Amino acid sequence: MKITLIKPRIGKREKSEYIEEGRMEPLQLAVLAGMLPEGTGVTFFDDRFENIDYDRETDLVVLTVETFTAKRSYEISREYKKRGIPVVMGGMHPTLLSEEVACHADVICTGDAESIWPALIKDFQHGRLKPVYRGTTGIPQKGILPDRSIFNGKWYLPISLIQFSRGCNSTCRFCATNAYFERKHHVRPDEEVLYEIQTLPHKLVFFVDDNFTANPERAKSFLKKLIPLKIKWVTQISINAANDPELVSLLARSGCLGFVAGLESIQRKNLVSMGKNVNLLEFNKFKPQIERLKDHGLSLWAAFTLGHDHDTITSIEDTISYALHWKFAFAAFNVITPYPNTRLYERLKSENRLLFDGKWWLHPDYRFNHATYIPKHMSPGALTEIGMRARVVYNKPLVVLKRLLNHRTGINALSVLWLLFKYNPVFRKEMYKRHGIILGKEGV
Ligand code: SF4
Repeated sequence: MKITLIKPRIGKREKSEYIEEGRMEPLQLAVLAGMLPEGTGVTFFDDRFENIDYDRETDLVVLTVETFTAKRSYEISREYKKRGIPVVMGGMHPTLLSEEVACHADVICTGDAESIWPALIKDFQHGRLKPVYRGTTGIPQKGILPDRSIFNGKWYLPISLIQFSRGCNSTCRFCATNAYFERKHHVRPDEEVLYEIQTLPHKLVFFVDDNFTANPERAKSFLKKLIPLKIKWVTQISINAANDPELVSLLARSGCLGFVAGLESIQRKNLVSMGKNVNLLEFNKFKPQIERLKDHGLSLWAAFTLGHDHDTITSIEDTISYALHWKFAFAAFNVITPYPNTRLYERLKSENRLLFDGKWWLHPDYRFNHATYIPKHMSPGALTEIGMRARVVYNKPLVVLKRLLNHRTGINALSVLWLLFKYNPVFRKEMYKRHGIILGKEGV
């Protein structure tokens, strides 16, 4: 049995290809590879930087599909279908929008792959593939070690991806994770995670959890066990974790260098309207939380979403000044994206505010980073423009340099400082390259 695994690209630039340089290993495909029966021939194409050899011999093609890569996934599927090869699609987008995806794949998988992948492979071997495999969400990778050998010979950032947990129990209305996991958070057994860490190829580890500390007590007990391993790591956390001094101390002692946290907005009324209640605890524009993290030498990679109903051009300008003031190691300024089947999407749809016929991910006129709905206090074009301006201002070389050299940025290891110096130009380049990408590769 020969299986081809594919990670699709987002799309292309107006006049050239888009090759993603700041790419990381797609862990989910290594998990699938790790669950295949012995003797399976596995080919892996990372469409983000290499051409797919559609004529390479294979029996089954499997794509992991996100909303941003849906259009490209459908193009890839067409090529394989022409050759009579069955195509399986799974991931976030097929789970949120299975009817659409079913029109482009022979088989769709919803929910976590772990719960259905073995049955699907068995059915395939017996020639009885079903059109739909509905998986559940639950504890990730139970007893499964990802097969990272599929990445051999390909270039990725020197950081190993792993997961401690999956999902999130918070209430944010714009969040696709929230819609996918129905507000549940699932944690792996500590021993399995600790064992997997010992097998990782890189010294720097990224826990790709949706919200690492969604269950603070479980996180604390794991962090205590992580301390002796002396690794350096980063993750994604909601900022309320910084309200808990014990948790912050354990994060720092266990080798955490910093984390991405969705601050989203510095306006309370925006946080209320988006349902991000975790950010409202002890809310003072995150001052106490940021100071506590800085006191522990933890760097914060702050993520803001722009274009909420209470946002104005002035409030977004204030957000940029705020980020510059706090000197976050990184800051992301994302125009809010209404993902299908989220509560935000449904509300904007009911208010007739969605652009691109409500399906921006398939529309030929949509461009990456552009507004996909009509904001309340500015035009879609103005929102797109200020989003880009925020990124440009925050990433000016001199601004970055000052930030990296400021001890309160929270970069507490020379190796990390070196990595940031090395990769900041890459991320800066990516920022310009990604803006305005056309989804899909075949053009409009
Ligand atoms: S805290 Fe983060 S992961 Fe959790 S629901 Fe909100 S945005 Fe999603």
